[in-house]
Amino acid sequence: MYYALASGSDSGIVQVQRIMPRDSANIFPAFKLTFKDQAAKDKLLAEFRERKQTFQNGLDKEDASLVPIYRGENEWLCQECPYISECNVIEVAAGNAAFKPRPKYPVRKKKKA
Ligand code: SF4
Repeated sequence: MYYALASGSDSGIVQVQRIMPRDSANIFPAFKLTFKDQAAKDKLLAEFRERKQTFQNGLDKEDASLVPIYRGENEWLCQECPYISECNVIEVAAGNAAFKPRPKYPVRKKKKA
């Protein structure tokens, strides 16, 4: 919906990817959303401008640590990212913990004999 706000529109289309669709389900359903509440639209627009400015500050100062990291729900975005090492250097320098991806396959505990 940020794109709708940026273009001055009161509506936009949100497209979703279903990760585990049923056989007959559309994998990429689309929904048209319209802002009906001006207060909600203003709040989202203020959030959008703040995030845009934060990103611009990071670019201007060439400091990626100024931009908050969004890893996605359950951190899915970072799991197989080829830049994890470089990203962790920035994270640790900023005083944050390094990101550790989950094991690709669950590790089973050995049964006690
Ligand atoms: S690990 Fe990759 S996807 Fe995750 S925040 Fe860093 S650069 Fe982005």
